[in-house]
Amino acid sequence: MLHKIGIEEHFAIQETMESDSTYLKRDVKYAIDINTRILDLMDYRIKEMDANGIDIMVLSLNSPAIQGIHNRSEAIEIAKIANDRLAEAVEKKNDRFRGFAALPLQDPDAAILEMKRAINELGFVGLFVNGFSQIDTPDNDVYLDDPRYKPFWAEVEKMDVPFYFHVRSPMPHNARLLDNHYWLHGAAWAFTVEAATHTLRLITGGLFDEFPKVKMVLGHLGEGIPWIVWRCDNMINKRRRGAPMKRKIADYLNDNIWVTTSGQFHYPPFLCTLLQMGADRILFSTDYPFEEVSDAANWFDACQISETDRNKIGRQNAIDLFKLKL
Ligand code: ZN
Repeated sequence: MLHKIGIEEHFAIQETMESDSTYLKRDVKYAIDINTRILDLMDYRIKEMDANGIDIMVLSLNSPAIQGIHNRSEAIEIAKIANDRLAEAVEKKNDRFRGFAALPLQDPDAAILEMKRAINELGFVGLFVNGFSQIDTPDNDVYLDDPRYKPFWAEVEKMDVPFYFHVRSPMPHNARLLDNHYWLHGAAWAFTVEAATHTLRLITGGLFDEFPKVKMVLGHLGEGIPWIVWRCDNMINKRRRGAPMKRKIADYLNDNIWVTTSGQFHYPPFLCTLLQMGADRILFSTDYPFEEVSDAANWFDACQISETDRNKIGRQNAIDLFKLKL
């Protein structure tokens, strides 16, 4: 399919390059290749897009980047630098790129100010956050259901701008169940557990009851939630144990959540997600440069779906959700 739009496609600036290199250090050759491609915004990336029928990439920082900077003033400063650099790249290649805002959630008031600046002044089309934020000390991980974030969520709802909720590695104190199984860290497994758990904290904790117009986007076909949702709902409905959410998780999937195909190029889980959420709520993505654009595009272009659904997932849903002016 020509004219596809990719939603979960990453870049980095030198200041955020070291932020999640621990698991990459286990594979130096892979890390060098990734590091070269994630810093490039023009040459190799545009060639890959051209070769695989991608018109636009909506660019976002690497993970955890800002969320991993525990010093508040440093997080605020690097977020501004990253957003400014991205704005420059988008301006230079306005026909190929759009931008997601990075946010210093270490300071919710500063995050609100940066969100307004990025959307209203830099022209970004969404917000992009890498899971929990480390605040003040490296081992203080704060999740987005913390009460301090209520004013932030109220502003996200008021601004009506999609919030991309992206993966990051769990903190060492939460990754003990992977001890001595290093190969399960990162995208192989740990990212999914961390992101799915954090998302379920937000949903079941009542985020979308309090802020029903918040639009959230999850990568990797919804981090497994579309496939496990019936069991979660079934057990919580049988034994609520104080769960604040007022509806079923499946209802929030239908009303508040969109998912992308980033890093999931396989028909059975895609079909399950399509059956659970419908073609209006899935968006094409690669997860560049951690995945090859050709792997994502070749799989999606040949995927056994109607051409109507292919056009929605490959392009139109992105235009509608992010209000893209092309
Ligand atoms: Zn990603």
